[in-house]
Amino acid sequence: MTRTEVLVIGAGPAGIAAATAAAENGCAVIVLDDNLSAGGQIWRGATVQETGSSSRGNTTKRRALERLRRSGAQVLGGRCVFSAEASGMLQTLQETGSGSLVEQFHFEKLILATGARERFLPFPGWTLPGVFGAGGLQSLMKGGYRVAGKRVVVAGTGPLLIAVATHLAQEGAVVSSVVEQAALAQLAPFAASLWAHPAKLVQGARYRAKLWKTSYRIGCWVLEAIAGSDGQRLGAVRVTDGTRTWTEPCDLLACGYHLVPNTEIAQLLGCELPGDFVQVDKTQRTSLPNVFCAGEPTGIAGLEAAMVQGEIAGLACAGVSSAPLQKRAAAERAFCDGMEKAFALRRELRSLPRPDTIVCRCEDVTFGSLHGYTGWTDAKLQTRCGMGPCQGRVCGPAVEFLLGWRPVSVRQPLFPVPLQAFCFQDERVEINKMNEPIKEKA
Ligand SMILES: Cc1cc2nc3c(=O)[nH]c(=O)nc-3n(C[C@H](O)[C@H](O)[C@H](O)COP(=O)(O)OP(=O)(O)OC[C@H]3O[C@@H](n4cnc5c(N)ncnc54)[C@H](O)[C@@H]3O)c2cc1C
Repeated sequence: MTRTEVLVIGAGPAGIAAATAAAENGCAVIVLDDNLSAGGQIWRGATVQETGSSSRGNTTKRRALERLRRSGAQVLGGRCVFSAEASGMLQTLQETGSGSLVEQFHFEKLILATGARERFLPFPGWTLPGVFGAGGLQSLMKGGYRVAGKRVVVAGTGPLLIAVATHLAQEGAVVSSVVEQAALAQLAPFAASLWAHPAKLVQGARYRAKLWKTSYRIGCWVLEAIAGSDGQRLGAVRVTDGTRTWTEPCDLLACGYHLVPNTEIAQLLGCELPGDFVQVDKTQRTSLPNVFCAGEPTGIAGLEAAMVQGEIAGLACAGVSSAPLQKRAAAERAFCDGMEKAFALRRELRSLPRPDTIVCRCEDVTFGSLHGYTGWTDAKLQTRCGMGPCQGRVCGPAVEFLLGWRPVSVRQPLFPVPLQAFCFQDERVEINKMNEPIKEKA
């Protein structure tokens, strides 16, 4: 059992900024993340000690990690938060070499900086080997997956597509096209609004310059992923603009439909979520007085928003005014609203899955088998949709878009936990691979 003044969940840019600000202003801070090292999605694989060659060229990341290290905040990686109570306690699961370790953390103030995940929409062939999420493929590349010489189509929606396509090109892949489902009329006002965000405009222009050989197909979407001559792996994709349909040969498809905020812990705690996002005030305080939230769970707005919101939350925990930062945060919020409108999903995507298209990959539930049910709970009970290891994180947002069903509640454990761990909940108990406790209850 560990006690701390400020506990931060998530060591992405928002969590790093929050922990740093709180610790620099005198708070005892612990940061928990399910990844082994700090960095979150965008700086994945960074180490807190990192100041050397791999972070050279990315000053923001290097500075943020260096400041975090100097602040004295303690980062505990490999801890997945699976339950939480607003009264000031949460539990984590850590996979160790010998088994699973459950730990309890008690806090006075909690900062949720849990980020977002990709939205996947099912279409025929999306389970073929060679089809990846766009961010998923990028994460694999950051982990050493080689794409050099591979023909790749990047598809779906959102600014992440361009970032991923650029990364693929830098790694030597041949990115034949970026297929963006949003229509030009939707994108144009957003593009125009970028003049108010010069840094983002420059970044976008840089990305585009690196993709000069790649076609950027606006208002188009992938209808189907088709197996190659071996009948096993991806060989091509069928793409449409709503009028014409064509086939593009490829070895890999990187396909993601913008991001979904990770709000499960906030929901579990009982924070207000008027829509998809956690409600916060100017100091990033949620509807619960001791719980703050920063970054993607409060709105998908990118790196700068995550960092400024994180800093505000950290300062608030330390009782320091963040007034000078709040104007910047408000501007980033406006950017977030623009992005939501620009990359709103077109209704044609609802008709992509066929009856035999798998929707829930964990439990092999097809689209056809979901028909005839009245809602998420009904379908879940009868088909097991959303009951697998990901607990509906992948199929939930897809089903919501396709059928309009929303999960009615969030329950702990948020992630599968070995059952025996609960028998010794009041102790720090290590469970071995046979689910036996290694340290006996005192
Ligand atoms: C797959 C993916 C790839 C992306 N790639 C890029 C990119 O290349 N360029 C770009 O500009 N933007 C990218 N983004 C967007 C980027 O994440 C945001 O712009 C911004 O950096 C978000 O920062 P954050 O701190 O809010 O969240 P994140 O960086 O997502 O950090 C949240 C952290 O919380 C951890 N976490 C969540 N739940 C738990 C839990 N229950 N227990 C323990 N830890 C938990 C996560 O593992 C993660 O490390 C990507 C997003 C995704 C989803």
